[in-house]
Order: sequence, then structure tokens, then C-alpha cells
Amino acid sequence: MTTIAFIGLGKMGRPMADNLLKAGFRLKVYDRLSEIMAPLTQAGAQPCEDPYQAGEGAQVVISMLPASEQVEALYLGETGLLSTLPAQTLVIDCSTIATASAQRLHQAAQARGLSMLDAPVSGGTTGAANATLTFIVGGESEDLSRARPLLEAMGKNIFHAGSAGAGQTAKIANNMMLGIQMAGTAEALSLGVANGLDPKVLSDIMARSSGQNWALEHKNPWPGVRTEQPASNSYQGGFAVAHMLKDLGLAAQAAAESGQVTEMGELARRLYAQHAQQGHEDLDLSSIIKLIKKDSVG
Ligand code: NAD
Repeated sequence: MTTIAFIGLGKMGRPMADNLLKAGFRLKVYDRLSEIMAPLTQAGAQPCEDPYQAGEGAQVVISMLPASEQVEALYLGETGLLSTLPAQTLVIDCSTIATASAQRLHQAAQARGLSMLDAPVSGGTTGAANATLTFIVGGESEDLSRARPLLEAMGKNIFHAGSAGAGQTAKIANNMMLGIQMAGTAEALSLGVANGLDPKVLSDIMARSSGQNWALEHKNPWPGVRTEQPASNSYQGGFAVAHMLKDLGLAAQAAAESGQVTEMGELARRLYAQHAQQGHEDLDLSSIIKLIKKDSVG
């Protein structure tokens, strides 16, 4: 039976790890916050005291960490996890990080005879809980074939975006679109309500019209419109403003490196930066409506 080390058990990592357990994989888990390992331990995972212990005896390592900084610190350098893993180990980083960081990991892994995939995900916490995530993978086809049974236990759609780092590039473009869409959706709803419409009626109309989009349907920013979504729970859970801002920063970096102008992405980045500065870093990204609506909501 394949043993998997799963590192980073936050809003996404924990349900993803849970689905691997349900699929019958043997799991070793590590998060720097030891208390959040408890539910997985109760479900049969082995808790570890550090990433090295998690990696011992594992054929596959999966990480789901906040950003490039944490991922590079985990894997790279003389004491990095990559330096301790036996050849042939498959390393799958599912965090959203810079393409250049992912490429550094691929190079370091290759130099040690390890297999590496960048495999960021889309689908949010609901997709993670329901095992319906979309995996956007960069790396070699043979490594993806090896990873496929694991990814299928956590997701529904698996795309091979291209070579090392391509998964991150695709994910960054996708999330720039998400940031733009969320700000636009919040603005459209605010405009309708400011002119006398009911936000639920307007949401239902847009959901069946050309304004339909993922943010409107899955993260409707207006409290009470979709009762199961973060806006109706004081914007708790979901996809943090801090992560959205990080991803819009990655998009700005990719734009600068390639010479491609991304004015809409840049505007969304400025809005999210302002929103984060006002103390909303930990709220779901749909809370951007607090910045946009003329009187603060929620
Ligand atoms: P999160 O902040 O909820 O979880 C991150 C976890 O990593 C935390 O539990 C933290 O304690 C742990 N951690 C941080 N540094 C660590 C280290 N050095 N060693 C071990 N554990 C460490 O974040 P999340 O929402 O689960 O997102 C994780 C990644 O997935 C991010 O890159 C994010 O952009 C991406 N993502 C998130 C969503 C979403 O909806 N939340 C959707 C798609 C992609």
C-alpha cells in the first residue's frame, strides 16, 4: 500500500488528506500547528513531529502550504526535505506558488533523482471536501501517471498544463480571472442594490444571464443570498483575502516577466491590497464587497 506524507493541513489540506484516507491510502501528516492534526489522527493518519518524520518511509510527499516562501523553506537547501528523501520518491506540491519557485523545486528534485509535479488546485474548500477539485499539473507525463490514482481520490478533473512550472502558470492566470470576477461581481450586485434591487433576485437573474460566473454562484459576496456560502457566515472559511492578494501578486510578477499588460488584474490586486490593509486578510475573498459597496455590508 502506498504511504503518503501530507504536509500542510489547513482549509484545503485537511479535507484533501481526509479523502486520501477514505480512499485507503496510508497517511502520515504534519502541520506546524499540531492541534489541527487531531481529526485526521482520529481518522487513522499517523501524526508527525516534523516534515522529516513524515517523509520517512513515504513513497509520495504532498504539500499544501500558503506560498512560495513556505514551500521553498520546506524542500530546498542543505537541510531541506528533498535532501532527505530516497530516489524515486514522488513529490507533489499542490500549493499556489510562483512559477519560478516551482521550477527551482523541479530542478532540485531532478538533481536528487526524485520525481516532482507542481499540481495547484481549483475548486475551493467545497471541492476539497467533496473530492471534486481540478488539478492543474506541470511536470513529466510519467510522473503524472504515477500521481493519477492519488489525484483522482481528491479531485474530478486533472489537466496536464505542460512541463515544470506550467501548472502554476495556468493556476495564476486562472486566479487573476477569479480576482477580477469577484470584484466585478461585487460591483454589479452593489450597483443593483443601490438602485433598489433585491440582491437575491439580481443574483438569480445574473446566474441565468450573461453575467453568470463562478464567483456569483459559488462565493456570492452578498450576505444571505446563498446561505451555505462564506458571505452568510461573516466571511469565515473559504479562500483567504491574503491568498487572493498573493495570487494577484504572482500574476503581476508573471506579467512583468513576460511583458504582457494585465490592467484588470492590476486593478483587482490594488483593491485586494487595500482590503487586506483594512484588516480583512483572513476573511474569504468574497468579503471584497465590504470595500466596494457604498455602505459596508455583513
Ligand atoms: P491555510 O492557510 O488554511 O493552510 C495552510 C496550512 O499550512 C496551515 O495549516 C499552516 O499551519 C500550514 N503551514 C504553514 N507553514 C507551514 C510549514 N512550514 N510547515 C507545515 N505546515 C505549515 O491555506 P489554504 O486555504 O489551505 O491554502 C493552501 C494553498 O492552497 C495556498 O497556496 C492557496 O493559495 C491554495 N488554494 C486555496 C484555496 C482555498 O479555497 N482555500 C483554493 C485553491 C488553492
